[in-house]
Amino acid sequence: MESSGGRAEGSGRGPRVLVVGGGIAGLGAAQRLCRHPAFPQLRVLEATARAGGRIRSERGFGGVVELGAHWIHGPSQGNPVFQLAAKYQLLREKDLSEENQLTETGGHVGLPSVSYGSSGVSVSRELVVEMASLFYGLIDQTREFLHSADAPVPSVGEYLKKEIRQRAASWPEDEETRKLKLAVLNSFFNVECCVSGTHSMDLVALVPFGEYTVLPGLDCTFPGGYQGLTNHIMASLPEDVIVFNKPVKTVHWNGSFKEASSLGETFPVLVECEDGACFPAHHVIVTVPLGFLKEHLDTFFEPPLPTEKAEAIRKMGFGTNNKIFLEFEEPFWEPDCQYIQVVWEDTSPLEDVTSELRHVWFKKLIGFLVLPSFDRSVHVLCGFIAGLESEFMESLSDEDVLLSLTQVLRRVTAPDTVCRGSHTSHVLLHHARGSAVWLEGGRPAHRSAGPTGTAARALALSPALPLQCHGEADNVLSSDRQCLSWLEIWGC
Ligand SMILES: Cc1cc2nc3c(=O)[nH]c(=O)nc-3n(C[C@H](O)[C@H](O)[C@H](O)COP(=O)(O)OP(=O)(O)OC[C@H]3O[C@@H](n4cnc5c(N)ncnc54)[C@H](O)[C@@H]3O)c2cc1C
Repeated sequence: MESSGGRAEGSGRGPRVLVVGGGIAGLGAAQRLCRHPAFPQLRVLEATARAGGRIRSERGFGGVVELGAHWIHGPSQGNPVFQLAAKYQLLREKDLSEENQLTETGGHVGLPSVSYGSSGVSVSRELVVEMASLFYGLIDQTREFLHSADAPVPSVGEYLKKEIRQRAASWPEDEETRKLKLAVLNSFFNVECCVSGTHSMDLVALVPFGEYTVLPGLDCTFPGGYQGLTNHIMASLPEDVIVFNKPVKTVHWNGSFKEASSLGETFPVLVECEDGACFPAHHVIVTVPLGFLKEHLDTFFEPPLPTEKAEAIRKMGFGTNNKIFLEFEEPFWEPDCQYIQVVWEDTSPLEDVTSELRHVWFKKLIGFLVLPSFDRSVHVLCGFIAGLESEFMESLSDEDVLLSLTQVLRRVTAPDTVCRGSHTSHVLLHHARGSAVWLEGGRPAHRSAGPTGTAARALALSPALPLQCHGEADNVLSSDRQCLSWLEIWGC
């Protein structure tokens, strides 16, 4: 096959490299390669009209709204996202402080400021703290099974439930309090589903769960928007390196491809786009989302990937996470409130949900984050929801979502609580298919930018081969590391 479209590659002198995907992984790889003396001829092929992928900040509600990535998890020196953000001066003074960087969170989500029961009862702080300590204590215990040959059950969910069942049997309280405790625990399961980007913790394998490295540092946000980071990386790249609206259809590799303008030269890879354009290259870095790879595995690589790579892609999970933004006439929360937990009193992690999703989807919502008030007249909550319920919500209209959540909030708080915002599909709702990866239990991709997780390692082909798959698991770091290994191969 000969190249039919595509301009001559970028201005570098070295080997010709194509990056597929212009999210932070692809941009990070491109930046790394451009900076090096071996500066390759480089192109980033991005399917859409914008770079940044699941990092997307928009102006809304009188400020900046994160439609995708929200926090830097584990912001400390070992975290390349933090380092880049600090270098570009995108963070607040307090988030750069040594004290913040040294804070150990264990990777657990902070306690809610307030917990509302679904019938309007307020759930006591003591009970929430007790259940949080039980839940996260058990999550920490899962690390004991790392590399273990005799894990008691296959999944994290089953392990948590087994332990909770045992403990619940000896709870001394009355029936009502015991039920409430289980309902609070159910809420923590929902949080963990969001963190892991999974429908159920039963889908996340127990043994490798502890592979995930939690970096120190109190999670922090970007005052000007996460997208400032990808914008800065983009600005550091030579002009025209990124080719927009170029969805890649097939990566032909392990071949010998020619190009009319490079007489006598052959290339081992040819990247074919949906519009018929073809780009020959010496190397390709693939950073498309794992969900895309899973859906198109049979046609995306020609020849197909080696069995063990394809198996790794099949075995890794990929789920859906959504955010819902609600705007209120007046806040019903206290000024110092940061996170509102909603506890569904009729739920329990020990009981499967049997009702139809349309009746219960909103019970998967973990609650709401109070967005910082940019303007005294704007009051916004951001809800998080994962899994099949999250996918079901995507099928509803904004009005239906708003109606359901208004009813929920009226029930759990005051009867006159009015939301006037909604989730909308233009700016207010974001549903990138899946935000996290679990490798039959590998820890989720987005919790921190720690060292390469099993997921990324499993995807990487030998550096001697021309094709590498990165992104997702640790984005910048994995593609950065791969670039380094190529630079070594090229003798730089
Ligand atoms: C709602 C939500 C909240 C999140 N919160 C956080 C958080 O708080 N902290 C955190 O660290 N992470 C968070 N994440 C995860 C984080 O956003 C992602 O892990 C990260 O942005 C992934 O970067 P990436 O470059 O690997 O993939 P992406 O950002 O998905 O980039 C892949 C790019 O490839 C392009 N592409 C796809 N198919 C093709 C094709 N065929 N040809 C060419 N291009 C293609 C896409 O258009 C996209 O631009 C969140 C994600 C979501 C969805």
